[in-house]
Amino acid sequence: MSDYLSKALLKFMIDKHKSQYADFEGENKNSKLRKKLILKGYNEYEQIIEQIPTADVAEVKHGKWESEWSIIGNALYFHCSVCGESDPWQHTGRGPASYCPRCGAKMDGGEEE
Ligand SMILES: [Zn+2]
Repeated sequence: MSDYLSKALLKFMIDKHKSQYADFEGENKNSKLRKKLILKGYNEYEQIIEQIPTADVAEVKHGKWESEWSIIGNALYFHCSVCGESDPWQHTGRGPASYCPRCGAKMDGGEEE
């Protein structure tokens, strides 16, 4: 599960709340001041969000090499639990690959964290 936040989504949510207050007409001096302070707070949130650095991120897939006995090759073969690609290092003596060459899944045992 990713802990990254979407800047666009945060801005959308703030804008949504801001628009609710923007249309609010206070009945007295205190409610007008309250509206002004709330909108000021939202504007500050927007400025802070704009200053947060961004990064292109992709969700990491987690998988494992699953074994399967092949009658044709009379040998044990390993394939990716995510996409089915064969382990490129099987039968090379290098041990299992740590990433799937096709889908990029990290071979750390699957989705459980
Ligand atoms: Zn794969």
